[in-house]
Amino acid sequence: MTLTAGVIAVQGDVSEHAAAIERAAQAHGEDSEIHEIRQSGIVPDCDVLLLPGGESTTISRLLHREEIAEEIIDHVAANKPVLATCAGLIVASTDPQDDRIEELDLVDVTVQRNAFGRQKDSFEAPLDVTGLGDPFPAVFIRAPVISEVGEGVETLAEWDGRAVAVRDGPIVATSFHPELTEDSRMHDLAFFETVEL
Ligand code: GLN
Repeated sequence: MTLTAGVIAVQGDVSEHAAAIERAAQAHGEDSEIHEIRQSGIVPDCDVLLLPGGESTTISRLLHREEIAEEIIDHVAANKPVLATCAGLIVASTDPQDDRIEELDLVDVTVQRNAFGRQKDSFEAPLDVTGLGDPFPAVFIRAPVISEVGEGVETLAEWDGRAVAVRDGPIVATSFHPELTEDSRMHDLAFFETVEL
């Protein structure tokens, strides 16, 4: 089988996610076809979607301008998997606490942008994640904090007493950047639900 994956590429990191998706698919004996999405019309052909990190205000503006936002909402309504990371989590949330972001309302959480500090405060931490065996090496870069988790949202991991990975229906969302290490288990968890790496 071939997994058709769309990486939202209006802004932010794309190639590392594409490589991680390929590794996760291989672990399940599947090929993957990866589309970098910069305009509307491609999302409806994708089995899974990735909303990467970057600058959430810019990503939000471009998703609406290019009419991709509505397609992502339809993808989730059809119960198809999404992995949203860092700025992707902010854009996908129900409450990003920033008027410049037109949220997609897909993950029922309140987030605070840049709450884990500025660029120089980036750090890596071993995280216990529900569904994964060994700790996951999580890289935090100007990461958002999830300050409130809605009913029906499962917290998958916490750091310093605060949620940093959650699942809301078909979406897994992380404050950190799972694409920046060789470890593809978060992509695996989001897209295949059972980890085989
Ligand atoms: N600080 C960024 C924002 O708020 C997110 C950082 C990231 O994606 N690494 O948009």
